[in-house]
Amino acid sequence: TVSVVLFTCDLRLHDHPPLHTALERSREVVPLFVRDRAVDAAGFAAPNRLAFLADCLADLDAGLRERGGRLVLRSGNLADEVGKVVTETGAQEVHLAADHSAHARRREEQLGALLQTLGCRLTVHDTVNTVVAPGTVTPASSDHFAVFTPYHRHWAQQPMRTPLSAPRTVRVPEGVGSEPLPVRGYITGVSPALAAGGEWPAREQLSAWLRSGLGEYEDGHDDLGGDRTSRLSPHLHFGTLSPVECVQRALRKGGAGAEAFVRQLAWRDFHRQVLAARPDAAKRNYRSQHDRWRTSVSARRDFEAWQEGRTGYPVIDAAMRQLRHEGWMHNRGRLLTASFLTKTLYVDWRVGAEYFLSLLVDGDVANNQLNWQWMAGTGTDSRPNRVLNPVTQAKRYDPDGVYTRRWVPELADVAAPFVHEPWKLQGLERAAIDDYPDPIVDLADGLARFKRARAGR
Ligand code: FAD
Repeated sequence: TVSVVLFTCDLRLHDHPPLHTALERSREVVPLFVRDRAVDAAGFAAPNRLAFLADCLADLDAGLRERGGRLVLRSGNLADEVGKVVTETGAQEVHLAADHSAHARRREEQLGALLQTLGCRLTVHDTVNTVVAPGTVTPASSDHFAVFTPYHRHWAQQPMRTPLSAPRTVRVPEGVGSEPLPVRGYITGVSPALAAGGEWPAREQLSAWLRSGLGEYEDGHDDLGGDRTSRLSPHLHFGTLSPVECVQRALRKGGAGAEAFVRQLAWRDFHRQVLAARPDAAKRNYRSQHDRWRTSVSARRDFEAWQEGRTGYPVIDAAMRQLRHEGWMHNRGRLLTASFLTKTLYVDWRVGAEYFLSLLVDGDVANNQLNWQWMAGTGTDSRPNRVLNPVTQAKRYDPDGVYTRRWVPELADVAAPFVHEPWKLQGLERAAIDDYPDPIVDLADGLARFKRARAGR
C-alpha cells in the first residue's frame, strides 16, 4: 500500500503524526509538498518567507534522503496536484496536518471532495501545529474563548500527547516525478540578515535556548537591547519545530522562565482558536464596529514615515528598521509600532498588518492579524483604549538606548535618556543629529485625536 503525506506548515520529521501514521499503515509513502499557486496569487508569498521555506524544503529533503526517501515537490492547485500523485501511485490514503485559516479550510474541503471521487481517504491530524486543537476547550456559551486568561486556565489542564521520534526509514515508490527544489540564493528582495530555515537549525536553536535562554526569559523577555526571547517564531510558523515538543521540553526544565515561555505558546493557540471560529477576523474587526480610520494624504505620508523608520520617535524607527533588516521584530517593538500606527497616527490596522506580512519571516495570519487587532483595540484586548507611549516605553524597555542606537545609527553618539527624546537636545548636540527627523506628530495631539475618534466625534 501507498500513502501520501502532504506537508504544509509542518516541515519536520520529528513529532510528525501524519508521517508517523502513514508509515505505520503503508509500505511506501510519498512525502509531498505542493507550492500552492493560490498562496502566491493572494500576495502571501513574501520573499523572506519564500527564502526561509527554500531552506526548510532542502533540509526536509536531506532528512528524508538520510532515511532512504526524498521529498516530492509539485506546484499548482493543491488539490489537483495531490490528486495527480494519488492517481500516479495508486495511493489509498492522504495524511495532512490540520490548519485553520479560511484558505486552508477551503483547500481541505476541495481536497476531501476530490479524493472521494478517487476512492482515497483523507485523514486530517490535530495537534501537529498547535498544542491544543482549536475547539477542544470552549466556554459554556460560545464556540471559542474571546479572553486569554480563562482560555489559558483550561488550556494548561489539557492532556498532552507524547512527542514522536523521527522515523528511521522512509520508502518512497519509484518513478514519482518531482520539480527541482527552490534555491534560497535565487530569491530576490530578501532581508540581509534573515535567519536560516530548516529542522536541523531549528532543533539546535531550541536546545541552545532551553539550555541558556529559558532561565532568564521571565525577567528578560521585554528587554529590547538584551534580545532575550527565543526567536523560534519562524520555526513554529513553518513547523520545523513541534509546539508540543517545545512545551514538554520547556516544562521538563521547569521554573518561572519555562512557565512564561509556555504561556506565550498558549497565546499562539489562543489566536488560532479565535481564527478557527471567526475566519473573517483576518480581515474584519473582531469586536469593535469602529472603522473610521484616517485616509487623507497626510495619513498616507505618516504611514510612509512609519514604514521607513523615519517618524522621529527613535524606538519606533529602530523597530521598523529591524523589521526590514532581519525580517523579524522583537515583540515589544511589534506592540509599540502597532500602537503607534493605529492609535497615535490613527491608520487602519489592516494597512500595518499587510506591511508586516510583506516582511515578517514568521508572518502568520492568526498571530499577525489578531495581534494587530489586539493592539488596535478592535480585537480581544480587554483594554482597547490603552495607548502605548513610545518615550516612556523606550525608557523602560531600552533604558540604556542599546537597541535604539543599534538600529538608528544617526543617534549612535546620543546618550540615554536623550536617545529616546533627541528633540530635547540643544545647540551643537542637536545640530550633530540633523540627519534624524523631527517627530511627525505630537504625542498629546495624537492621543487627543484618538480619544475624539473613539468617542465618535
Ligand atoms: P518568544 O517570546 O520566545 O515566544 C515563544 C513563541 O510563543 C513565539 O515564537 C510565538 O510562536 C509564540 N508567541 C509569543 N508571543 C505571542 C503572541 N503575542 N501571540 C501569539 N504567539 C506568540 N507572531 C508570529 O509568530 N507571527 C506573526 O506574524 C506575528 N505578528 C505580530 C504582530 C503584532 C502587531 C504583534 C504585537 C505581535 C505579533 N506576533 C507574531 C507575536 C509575537 O510578537 C512573536 O511571536 C514574537 O515576537 C516572536 O519572537 P520569539 O519567537 O522570540 O518569541
